[in-house]
Amino acid sequence: MTPPTPEEQVLFLRNVQRLLVEGQFTASYKFALLLAIADLCVLKGDDSGASLNLAVKDIAEQFIELYWQQCRPFQLGGQSTRLVLQQNTGRQAAVISKVIQAQHDFGGSLFKLKQSAPDLWRSLKSSVTRVVNDMPLWKLQTVGSERLDFLYDNLDVTTTTITLKPGVAFCFRAFYGLIRDLIQGAWVRFVQRLNANELGNLTDLGTFLFDRERSSLDAYKQILLDVQERQCFYCQRDLRTSVEVDHFIPWSRYPTDLGHNFVLAHPRCNNSKSDHLAAEQHLQSWAERNHSCSEELAERLRDAGLLHDSTASIRITEWAYEQVEKSHGQVWISHAAFQHLGAEWRKFLLA
Ligand SMILES: [Zn+2]
Repeated sequence: MTPPTPEEQVLFLRNVQRLLVEGQFTASYKFALLLAIADLCVLKGDDSGASLNLAVKDIAEQFIELYWQQCRPFQLGGQSTRLVLQQNTGRQAAVISKVIQAQHDFGGSLFKLKQSAPDLWRSLKSSVTRVVNDMPLWKLQTVGSERLDFLYDNLDVTTTTITLKPGVAFCFRAFYGLIRDLIQGAWVRFVQRLNANELGNLTDLGTFLFDRERSSLDAYKQILLDVQERQCFYCQRDLRTSVEVDHFIPWSRYPTDLGHNFVLAHPRCNNSKSDHLAAEQHLQSWAERNHSCSEELAERLRDAGLLHDSTASIRITEWAYEQVEKSHGQVWISHAAFQHLGAEWRKFLLA
């Protein structure tokens, strides 16, 4: 068995990045699962490049430990609140409810639970094992509308072990810190978004230190309504009362508030595009809009005191599409429709 080549290692990192950016996340389980696998590679793997068997119950145990910390009532300004952070877009995630109950019963101490109630600990572990088997294990490697089975084979059946493919444990071990930061950063943003109402303007330290403040986008609305003639940028249907300003290159890929990066869309179109890049036809209309309205746009943005730099916007866009091309990623067409990025995208930016 030999360790993965440098090219394979880079591809691995690209794939992890794809999971985090393109994966469809309704609960934070996938972050927990990726972190759990990374941790177990450190704990149980080696650097030979060999495949590695992981017991699902060991993954479940890592899950419980991760969520045990996150289910504590949230502290605001040093004061404990009764708020338990939401980790799912719909109902609170099942693992969370189980962990909260166990915390309640054991005064918040995981140690106490393990020590004084081994039966309950085992039963918590097996119910979390079922959740892991049911959901995140087989959904982790779905991006857009395709499978990206680079970590383990998706068997779609309940199992007691998964087998990490050759090279996977090696890469998790080699890039552990990097990957951990990636996952944690994505997880923080996810939870922050889900709990925006409760957290209000409070930004956590990570946001404070690293995320540029997102400015209010209202100022762009009137300008873009005129430029787009009150039509949705993506579906070309009329825009009525609810209109959203969309970052053409998603904020999560590159945080920029430069004027040319904005388009107006229906909330539904904007939401389904989410953190994806838009398909070639949208890229073409974006480039054409910026070209044909370049003077009007620049003048209106300047008069409104809004930052803009069309050259920089094009460079960022070019970079973003290049990355998708290199990782063979998918781009968003409409609603649930995706496709692979074709070879032609570049010509739209040259016009
Ligand atoms: Zn639309």
